[in-house]
Amino acid sequence: MYKFARPRIFASRCLGFEACRWNGAIINTEITRRLAPHVDFITDCPEVAIGLGIPRDPIRIIEHEGELELYQPANGLDLTEKMRKHTAGFLDSMPQVDGFILQSRSPSCGPWDVKIYNGRSPKAQTLRRAAGFFGGEVLSRFGSLPVEDEGRLTNFTIRERFYTQIFTLAEFRAVRASGRASRLVEFMSHHKLLLMACHQREQKTLGHIAASHEGLPFDMVLDEFETHLLLALHNGPRRNGAINALMHALGYFKKELKTQEKRYFLELLDEFRNSRIPLSSLNSVIKAWIERSDESYLRMQSFFEPYPSDLVDISDSGAGRDY
Ligand code: SF4
Repeated sequence: MYKFARPRIFASRCLGFEACRWNGAIINTEITRRLAPHVDFITDCPEVAIGLGIPRDPIRIIEHEGELELYQPANGLDLTEKMRKHTAGFLDSMPQVDGFILQSRSPSCGPWDVKIYNGRSPKAQTLRRAAGFFGGEVLSRFGSLPVEDEGRLTNFTIRERFYTQIFTLAEFRAVRASGRASRLVEFMSHHKLLLMACHQREQKTLGHIAASHEGLPFDMVLDEFETHLLLALHNGPRRNGAINALMHALGYFKKELKTQEKRYFLELLDEFRNSRIPLSSLNSVIKAWIERSDESYLRMQSFFEPYPSDLVDISDSGAGRDY
């Protein structure tokens, strides 16, 4: 059984770790509970960290004289500078992480879709929506990493992409920590089909970087590799890319498959191309063939199991199911 690297993930502390919301509540979310056995979490509650108690009067983002302010209407407190200082200090000293799970719509943690009010009056109207103070700084510093809010992660496709990204990035962090060029070659070989399914051009660039870096400082090679890895993983596996990867896998069984088996697989591929069946239906067929023929190269491909199987959960909030 493949041993997955443990992703290091930042999560808003109210997402199942502590009852620290403004009203003293905790958010019982599935996502952090399911991930807990596989992930090392780093958490923070920026509002508690700047000295607001639990419970506390709610805060909001307002636009005042053309500037955004973090404001507590009940007592007229401007918390902007305190929050900026805490956010910068926390993110400066945080160890490298592989992704973020932030509380949606919070004026502090929300990465997007946070209400911005028109002025300090308690009766002010919503002007527009933007990022919270902490969430916005996360995006501006770490926007190339996987950043999601817990609401979006109830969507099957978004969750699957997030898991794929964080487990792949955690493994790359282990490659970097090892300092060994051979680990980079192994990484490339393990993820070849997955990267092909995500972004074929970047997969080729990554293959080239991993294979031809002699004479260059290894840290520099890893930095360049990481830049292209993040680009490759950004959108997760795409439908056309997945079809390429599956055709590539099919090639390994060319000689041993009966004509009817090939025809059946190509029919399934057509169904998948037309969004009538999920990728997992084709992967199950290939996995059965891998077992039958003991195909070791395909067996090690992360494309067929990019994250631990007990995280597979087909529940879906509905929107955005397509690749
Ligand atoms: S959203 Fe962020 S600031 Fe608000 S309670 Fe949760 S962790 Fe604390």
